[in-house]
Parts: sequence; C-alpha cells; structure tokens
Amino acid sequence: MDDQINLFSINRNKDKEPDKVIPEGVKVGRGMLWCPYCSIVVKFTKDKQLGVSKCPFCGISDRDYNVKIINKIWK
Ligand SMILES: [Zn+2]
Repeated sequence: MDDQINLFSINRNKDKEPDKVIPEGVKVGRGMLWCPYCSIVVKFTKDKQLGVSKCPFCGISDRDYNVKIINKIWK
C-alpha cells in the first residue's frame, strides 16, 4: 500500500536528515534561526493562527525537536 499519509513528510521539501549542528563559521543573527532541514539561516515567520513560527521555505515550526535542539531554544 502506497497511499498511506506520512505525517512527518507533509511539511518537508527535502528527504535529507536534519542537521545536528550549525556549520562552523555560520553566524545566526538576532531573530534568526538555523533551519536544520533547509541548512540555511532564516527568519521564521509567525503563523498567527497556530501561534508558532515557521520556516518560510520548508514550513517546519519552531516547535520541531530538531529546530529547538540546534538553535538551543529547548525549554
Ligand atoms: Zn526550512
């Protein structure tokens, strides 16, 4: 059966493994986050309906485990 919906794949453009560390030399500025799925520094955009911020490219939210870990915003 190929018609199963994989909830984890819906918001992700890439099949790559998320980054575990920010590459050396990369500066993540104020208000910016490293997206471990896009491998770029991006400003996550606020989704007012959901109350979370999301990567404008892949749509991952700042509540994602890997986003929190790599940006050290675990609470
Ligand atoms: Zn992204």
